[in-house]
Amino acid sequence: MNIVVTGGAGFIGCNFLRWMVGRYPEDRFINIDALTYAGNLKSLEDLEGKRNYSFYQVDICHRESLISLFQKEKPQAIVHFAAESHVDRSIASPLGFVETNVLGTMQLLDLTRSFGVERFVQISTDEVYGSLGPQGLFSEGSPLQPNSPYAASKASADLLVQAAAETYGMNTLITRCSNNYGPYQFPEKLIPKMIRRALDDLPLPVYGDGLNIRDWLYVEDHCRAIDLVLRKGRPGQVYNIGGSNEYTNLQIVQMILSILGKPMDLIQFVPDRPGHDRRYAMDADKISRELGWLPATGFEEGLRQTVDWYRQNEFWWRELVAKEMPDYL
Ligand code: NAD
Repeated sequence: MNIVVTGGAGFIGCNFLRWMVGRYPEDRFINIDALTYAGNLKSLEDLEGKRNYSFYQVDICHRESLISLFQKEKPQAIVHFAAESHVDRSIASPLGFVETNVLGTMQLLDLTRSFGVERFVQISTDEVYGSLGPQGLFSEGSPLQPNSPYAASKASADLLVQAAAETYGMNTLITRCSNNYGPYQFPEKLIPKMIRRALDDLPLPVYGDGLNIRDWLYVEDHCRAIDLVLRKGRPGQVYNIGGSNEYTNLQIVQMILSILGKPMDLIQFVPDRPGHDRRYAMDADKISRELGWLPATGFEEGLRQTVDWYRQNEFWWRELVAKEMPDYL
């Protein structure tokens, strides 16, 4: 199979390619990425030169480039990660989120249809469901009630994907995953941001009262789930993917400080993010029943591995922080 992976130079995309390329030597993996601030070819150096891996710098909003690529590479499946992905950036400048996440997805869907690509997997997020109270879980049937511009742009893309399945009978799948963590995550996101600041003894800014709850999933467990959905998922279906690891943001920051042996008084509470969702939690029963997927990495083990990775790979993140981080992050 020729598989186009969009956004493969980003956090989850590069981990997914690393998971797939060695495992499936008969398949070809074609990574297309615009290399925005979040895309980094240094994350893929170990795949360079592999016979079944190639990279093209392509913007998914640029139709002509996509057409040339589809003509040349003849994809049979698309796994679509490419997106603007940071909630705080979406609050500061939402238009780019609509361009890439909504219009870019529509371009891909349109060409998927006209080129007869057999399968389209949309990588989405629990954030499309909005916020939960203290109890309950999001199921695949929960209403879409996004609150941030990021979440609204992803929900819009999901609706376009569902419409493509209904209207044109396209073979589409949607995965909605909880917060990922692990190696190669851009240092603006909660866990790497707190690790790098703690390493430098800088204050760790925690929004509001720090009691917002997220469900955390180790990125490799997510990649294994996407692999299963791509190969065995039922056409037209949505699959929730979650780690059953609910923690408050404050707990996460405290755990990082204790792994690093740093003082808790580095924690600094800052004014809350506007529209900050209180709690996300996923019911991942469907993917477990239908495809036999379960998360394999315990949170404490995964967090320790992640902290070690950032400690050992300062060359990867220090340059990004210096070059790509706006003041408000
Ligand atoms: P990321 O920001 O690390 O990477 C995004 C990648 O997309 C980058 O390599 C970037 O260069 C590329 N990209 C952006 N705009 C593009 C464009 N116009 N054309 C081509 N490439 C473009 O994001 P991530 O954390 O790896 O997330 C990947 C996907 O998974 C996203 O769709 C996101 O919504 C979804 N998701 C992420 C999480 C999470 O916790 N990180 C959780 C659930 C779902």
